[in-house]
Amino acid sequence: MPIRAERLALDIEAIGKCTHAPGAGADRPTFSAAWREARDYCLAEAERAGCQWRVGAAGNVHIRPAGLDWSHRAWLSGSHIDSVPHGGDFDGVVGVVAALEVLRAAHEDGRRDLPLEGIIFAEEEGTTFGLGMLGSRGWAGTLDAAALAALRNRDGKTYWEAGADHGAAAARLAAERLGPGGYAGLIELHIEQGPAMWNRDQRVALVTAIAGRRQYAVALQGVSNHAGSTGMNDRHDALAGAAEVISAVECLPDLLGDHAVATVGRIVAEPNAVNVISARAEFTIDLRAPDDHSLELGDERIRALVAAAAARRGLRVELRQTESLPAVRLDAAVADRVRGAASRLGMAPLPEAVSGALHDAAILAALVPTVMLFVASRDGISHNPAEFSRIDDVAAATRLLAEVVASLPESTTG
Ligand SMILES: [Zn+2]
Repeated sequence: MPIRAERLALDIEAIGKCTHAPGAGADRPTFSAAWREARDYCLAEAERAGCQWRVGAAGNVHIRPAGLDWSHRAWLSGSHIDSVPHGGDFDGVVGVVAALEVLRAAHEDGRRDLPLEGIIFAEEEGTTFGLGMLGSRGWAGTLDAAALAALRNRDGKTYWEAGADHGAAAARLAAERLGPGGYAGLIELHIEQGPAMWNRDQRVALVTAIAGRRQYAVALQGVSNHAGSTGMNDRHDALAGAAEVISAVECLPDLLGDHAVATVGRIVAEPNAVNVISARAEFTIDLRAPDDHSLELGDERIRALVAAAAARRGLRVELRQTESLPAVRLDAAVADRVRGAASRLGMAPLPEAVSGALHDAAILAALVPTVMLFVASRDGISHNPAEFSRIDDVAAATRLLAEVVASLPESTTG
């Protein structure tokens, strides 16, 4: 199947023109006019390539070759076309157009029953309704119709009200819920959105895990006092205690292994005055790691180091876990098929990566054997109009996708 980089470039350019902020990046909130325009572009291309399509109850768009019945087992591949405000042209879009290009290439080759279903997930980013991955969560059943009905966009419309004109339908959601076994696997192609691959000149990588996340709100309570007349040994300085914790948190990933990251991104000090010892410091901790064991170990260490810093300074601790999302290990068998395809295409050894960001793939992974392919992001910049990936890298990842989905795994056919 001849994958053509120039067609992928045309798709990305055409979808980039569908924006509510011309000249200032991609602005395509789900179910908006620009989003619909981009969706209709993809569907026109799909129809030209001899495909049928339908909109699932959750608002996701499904595309199949006309010769592949909806009841037949298939690979699934796609991503999203909604964007953050002033986003880039590549986030999500490359995964959608890669699947489209494989369908086009198959059609060109006279193949009418390629076992591939393209998918455009609805509302991945989370900026339209205040929560992300709504289409995949709705389909997978981790959000029900009532939960989606409780979410409103900036016009005050619920997910179902906003999606009604685009095929989303609460009444069908439960009946259409994704079950296990219907798909051979999901391969989501996406830009990395970080600098690791670009800095190492890696073009395409196999993603073997999506990092889990723990977040905490921490408050250290000390005693405010005069900065001149209180000796250093007589203090209960909350801000100094926080500083100690922040430094220790920065070193924590060394203990937890590759791909773990920890961040204190927010701090508020009281009374925040030049000549007053700090009475209270409130800050956040964000810990991510590719496996739950590392997250658990990190959790223990965070609690211990906060307690130790507080004890040294006579501070009172308030520590609350505000989020806990498990790590997602992607499917080993599908990963092996991708490695095999890479070696047939002369792309081996394929670099391997962990996704620090969440994707629709993380939601579906519980029900469908899932992997992701990453394409390098220039300087790691994303969610920004300057976002850029090389079209040759997108094409190389698309060739890899085409090689994998050319046939179904033996054990699952018939
Ligand atoms: Zn994305």
